[in-house]
Amino acid sequence: MRLTLLYVSLLAAVLLLYAATTSAFFLHNLREQLDLSLDRDIETVEGSITLTPDGHVRLDSRDGEANETEAPPGYWLEVWSLGKVVYRGPQPNGQVLGSAPGPSEGTQIYRSTKLVKGTRVRIVSRVHRLENGPMVVRLAVSEEPLWHEFWEMVSTLAVGLPIAGIIAGVTGFVVARRALRPLGSMARRAEQISAERLNERLAIENPDDELGQLGRVFNTTLARLERSFEQLRRFTADASHELRTPLTAIRIVGEVALQKPGDAGYLRDVIGSMLEEANRLTHLVDSLLTMSRADAGRIALQQGEVAVLDLAKESAALLEVLAEEKDQTVRVEGDASIAIRGDRLILRQALVNLIDNAVKYSPRHGSIVVRVGAKSGYALVEVQDSGSGIPPEHRSKVFERFYRVDKARSREQGGTGLGLSIAEWAVGAHGGSIELECEPGPGCTFTMRLPMLGSAELANT
Ligand code: ADP
Repeated sequence: MRLTLLYVSLLAAVLLLYAATTSAFFLHNLREQLDLSLDRDIETVEGSITLTPDGHVRLDSRDGEANETEAPPGYWLEVWSLGKVVYRGPQPNGQVLGSAPGPSEGTQIYRSTKLVKGTRVRIVSRVHRLENGPMVVRLAVSEEPLWHEFWEMVSTLAVGLPIAGIIAGVTGFVVARRALRPLGSMARRAEQISAERLNERLAIENPDDELGQLGRVFNTTLARLERSFEQLRRFTADASHELRTPLTAIRIVGEVALQKPGDAGYLRDVIGSMLEEANRLTHLVDSLLTMSRADAGRIALQQGEVAVLDLAKESAALLEVLAEEKDQTVRVEGDASIAIRGDRLILRQALVNLIDNAVKYSPRHGSIVVRVGAKSGYALVEVQDSGSGIPPEHRSKVFERFYRVDKARSREQGGTGLGLSIAEWAVGAHGGSIELECEPGPGCTFTMRLPMLGSAELANT
C-alpha cells in the first residue's frame, strides 16, 4: 500500500508538471498563431491608411472608397500620432483600448491585457510612417476564443489526470502485490523452518531475480546453519561418549574391587588403573576445553619470536620417556637459524601432538625424525614416523574431531581423537597449515607450514 501511495504521488507530481508545461506551451502556441494573424491584419490595415488633404487619417475600403468606420470586424483599431488618437475604429462591446507606450520605430510590440469590462484582448502596436510623420497603429483582437480553447484543454486534462492516477494506482497496487507475494510466502516458509527442520529449504521460483537471490542466500545460510548444528550435535554426542568410556571404566574397576576381598597389591593395581583412567579424563577435558575456547576465539596468541629447531627439540624432549618405553629413536635435525613469530606454547602443543602420534603409532624399535627446514617464505617442520601409515580413505578425515582410524587402538594408546584437530587449529591460527603425506612404504609424514619471520604479510594475504 505504501509503495503504491508513493508511486501514485510521484506519478501525480510528474503528471501535474507535465500538464502545466503542456498547457503553458499550448497557450503560448495559440498566442503565436493569434500574433501571426494579427501581423497579417495589421499589414492590410496599414495598406489602407491614407491621409486626407486636411491632415486627417482615414481608412480606405478595398474598392477605394473612403470609409471612416471600416476595420476588420471584431477588431479594435487605433491610430496614434504624437500621443493623441487620430483615428479610432469601431470598439466591440463599447470597450476602449487603454493607452499604452508605443513601440520604437521598426519594432512592434504584442501585449495581452484585460479591458474594463473584463474582455481579454491581444494588442499589436507598430510604427507606421505617413507623409506627415510617424504614427502608431494599434490593432487588437479578443482573446476570449483562445482562452476558451485553452480552458477546454485544461478541463480535459483535469478530468484525465485523476483517471490516469486511479488506473496507475490500481495497476501499481496489483503489480506490487504480485511482486511481493513470493516474499510473503518465503517469510511464512522461513518461519516454519526451525532448529528441528533445518534440512528444509525455501522454494525458489526464479533464481536470477532479486527474490531468487535472496532465497539462495537464505538457503545457503540454512545449509551452513544445518552443518554447524550437525557438527555441534556430533561433537556433543562424541564428547559425551568419550567422557563416559573412562568414567565407566573407573566405576567398573571400583565396583569389582569392592566386591572382591583383595590384598594391598591388588588394591594398588586397581587404584593405579583408576588413576590412569582419571588421567585420560583430565587429558580429554583439557583438550575439549582448548577446542571450545579456540572455537569461541577466546585464545589470545602471545606472539613472540620462536626458534623452530629449539621448539622441535623441546617438544621431542617432552615425549622422550614415551619413546624410550618403546625403544624408539627420535631424531631432531635441521636449520637452527629458522625463526617464526608466534605463540610458543600453542605451537609446542601442536608439535607435541604430532610427535606424540608418531610415537603412538610407530612400532617398538621404530624411528621418528623431526626435520626443520624452510621453503618459499615458510618454515617447515616435518614429523616422519615408521608406523603403519594411514589408509588413503582416512587421510582427509583424520583432522576431524574425534575421528580415529582405529578407535580401540587410539584409546588403548591414550588418544582422545582431538590431537590433530587441536594441532590444525593452532597452526591455522598462525597463518599456516598441516599437510599429511604417506609415501608408499611404512609411516607417514605430517608437515607443519608456518610463515617465517618477515613474511607474516605473506601469510595474511
Ligand atoms: P588420537 O588422540 O586418537 O591420536 P588424533 O586427532 O591425534 O587423535 O589423530 C586422529 C587419528 O589419526 C588417530 O586416531 C589415528 O588413527 C590417526 N593418526 C594420527 N597420526 C597418525 C600417525 N602418525 N600414524 C598413523 N595414524 C595416525
